[in-house]
Amino acid sequence: MNRIHLSKAEITEVEEEFVLDALRSGWIAPLGPHVDAFEHEIAERCGVAGALALSSGTAALHLALLHAGAAPGTTVVVPTMTFAATANAVAYTGAELAFVDSREDDGNVEPRLLWRAIDELRAEGRDVVAAISVDLFGRCADYPILQAGLAARGVALVEDAAEALGASLDGRPAGCFGIAAALSFNGNKIMTTSGGGMLLSDDTDLLSRARYLSTQARQPVPWYEHTDIGFNYRMSNILAALGRGQLQRLDGMIQRRREIRQMYAEGLADLNGVRVLGRGWPRDDRDDNCWLTSVVVDAETWGVGADAIVSALSAQNIEARHLWKPMHLQPVFAGAPRRLTGASEMLFRQGVNLPSGANLTDADIARVLSTFRACLEGARWPQRSTHV
Ligand SMILES: *Cc1c(COP(=O)(O)O)cnc(C)c1O
Repeated sequence: MNRIHLSKAEITEVEEEFVLDALRSGWIAPLGPHVDAFEHEIAERCGVAGALALSSGTAALHLALLHAGAAPGTTVVVPTMTFAATANAVAYTGAELAFVDSREDDGNVEPRLLWRAIDELRAEGRDVVAAISVDLFGRCADYPILQAGLAARGVALVEDAAEALGASLDGRPAGCFGIAAALSFNGNKIMTTSGGGMLLSDDTDLLSRARYLSTQARQPVPWYEHTDIGFNYRMSNILAALGRGQLQRLDGMIQRRREIRQMYAEGLADLNGVRVLGRGWPRDDRDDNCWLTSVVVDAETWGVGADAIVSALSAQNIEARHLWKPMHLQPVFAGAPRRLTGASEMLFRQGVNLPSGANLTDADIARVLSTFRACLEGARWPQRSTHV
C-alpha cells in the first residue's frame, strides 16, 4: 500500500531546467539574477510594489515586525490558531505576545475579538504596536473588518500569508493586506524552494531597510562597516531558480488541490456533523488556494476526535494531521495574555488536515475517504448499540 503524504512537493522538468540554469550560470554565491527575477514575479503576482527573497517565512515575519516597531516593552497581538513560527517571530523582537481566538467557521482570527483585545490590553497600559493575521490553510482572513478596526486604533497589520500564496479576497491577492506580508516556500507549502520565504510590501522604505538588515547590515563602503546588528536571511540564487519553476506551475497545482477539496466535500456530504473548514456559509472557498483541506467532526454526533481519526488513517499508511495546536496551549507561551472563545480548542480537538498534495491521484483520495468513513462509522457503532 503506497504511502499517502499530507502535502508533498511536486517537482518536474520545469524546475530541473531552472535549477540547472542557475548552476551552469555560475551564480552560486549566493545572490544572482534568479533572485531578482523571482522577487519581481512574486511582487507582480501578489499586487505589491516590491518583494524581498529570504531564507524563510519566519525571517520575513521577523523583519516585518521590526519595522512595525515590535521591541521590548511593546505588545503584538497574534491569532492563537497558527504555526509556532508566527509567535516565535514576535518573541525574537523581544515584544510581548497576546493571543486571540478563531472564528469557528474557518479558523481565521475573530476580528472583533482582536479589536477588543487591543482595547483591553491598552487599558492595562500595554503598548500594542502591531497585530498579525494568518491566512489559515490558504484562506484569507476577514480583511475588510480587520483592517477597519486596526486603522481606527493605529495598529499596524502584518499579514502572515505563509500558507496563502495564490489565494485572494474580493479580487485582491493574499500578501497585499498589511504594511507587509510574509510568504513561505517551505517544503510542504503550496509551492516550495525547499526552504525559503518572501517579504512583500508597498512600502519601499520598509523593503530597503529589510534588505539591508537581511544581509548582515553592511554599510555601503568598500570595507565591512556595521552600525546595526544584521541577519543572514537572504535566499540563494539556486533556490530562487527552483521557486521560479514552481511559480510557473502554481496555478495548475492550486487547481489540483481545489479538485481534491471538491472530492472530499462530495465524498463526505452525506455525513451529518462533518464539515470542510471554511466552505459554505458565510463565504465560500472559491478564492482559497486550498493548500490543505481540513475536516471538522462534530463530537456529539460521532463521539470521536482528531486523535482517533489521525491514528486510523496512519494505520492505513495515510498521513493526516491535527490542525495547529493553539499557541495559548503551548508550554513555551504559558502566561501570555489571551482572549478565548473556545473555538480554536474545539478545532484542535475535532479537526483533521487530510492529504491535499497536488500529486495525489483520484485513487489516493478515494482511499482516504473510505478509511475516514470507516473510522467514523466504527466509532458510532458502540454508541448506537447501547440505545437498542
Ligand atoms: C510555514 C509557516 C510559517 C513559517 O514559514 P517558514 O518558511 O517555515 O519559516 C509561518 N507561519 C505560518 C502560518 C506557516 O504555516
